[in-house]
Amino acid sequence: MKKEAMHYRKKAIALECMLCPHQCTIAEGKTGICGVRQNEGGNLYSMIYGEITSMAMDPIEKKPLYHFFPGSEILSIGTKGCNFKCPYCQNWTISQDLNARTRFFSPEKVVETALKEGSVGIAYTYSEPIIWFEYVMDCAKLAKKKDLKNVMVTNGYINPAPLDELLEFVDAMNIDLKNFKEESYKKFQKAKLEPVLRAIEMAHTRCHVELTTLIVTGINDTIEEMESLINWIASIDRSIPWHVSRYYPNYRYDAPPTDVQFMLEVCERSRGKLDYVYCGNISGSYGWSNTVCPTCGNTVIRRSGYRTEVIGLKGDACAKCGNKLNIVIA
Ligand code: SF4
Repeated sequence: MKKEAMHYRKKAIALECMLCPHQCTIAEGKTGICGVRQNEGGNLYSMIYGEITSMAMDPIEKKPLYHFFPGSEILSIGTKGCNFKCPYCQNWTISQDLNARTRFFSPEKVVETALKEGSVGIAYTYSEPIIWFEYVMDCAKLAKKKDLKNVMVTNGYINPAPLDELLEFVDAMNIDLKNFKEESYKKFQKAKLEPVLRAIEMAHTRCHVELTTLIVTGINDTIEEMESLINWIASIDRSIPWHVSRYYPNYRYDAPPTDVQFMLEVCERSRGKLDYVYCGNISGSYGWSNTVCPTCGNTVIRRSGYRTEVIGLKGDACAKCGNKLNIVIA
């Protein structure tokens, strides 16, 4: 279904979409870089309103969110399209294939489904939810009224004004910080790093934020770059959970999977700088999947795959030493 888009302005012979930092100029009949926002008759339309490629009840840890209602399940929905062009996209069949099959669900139906399934909320995930802005806003507003949480799993490539609107309704975000070099964002994402950093800073002041970095062989797998990234996160807030994730060859990129030893070294380098670091997308956790109190070393949440046991929390504090932790629980 199509719906008139928000955040655009009319120019002399085209439209300018103001939703994300690409700020595409879109001529009549054309779409922007994301491929799903189209100029029709001098108005901009979202062509994917309510169009869902995937819907499932997932463990919230799968987003990944490890510090937001740990152990809960969340209704997860996604559409198609993306404003990034990562050659190694792990979800390219829906993010880059605009012919991906969809099914329409109204916001009312999504919220009804979440309530029926006993979900903690709605996660906008799988492909990029920013370019689904109008639909995410409508679902999120309805969900809030029903006391459901709204979660976004996103690349963080959004302008401040629309992000400000989203943050009225969003409770948690997992934001990808794909690498820490402008030239890499330009070459691989066909985008810019700086706006992502600003979006992370802004979201962090308004909702629960966790970050994910897919370490990709030959792209961001140097200790120097990872240390710069770790230092930047620490400069914002050392208690932001950081998920280090393993890449596997996919889409148009066929370098070998990330060296697990390198990932473990990156995690080691974060010690003393970041409070919560997790190593994911690998078989076995190598000791980097549990949540440990940074003050006393007590294990507060134990994880094995998607099995989660909250074992050492009293409210949002460590049951052993009483240190308040960056964890949102029911
Ligand atoms: S949301 Fe899409 S159309 Fe709008 S500026 Fe970003 S890439 Fe371009």
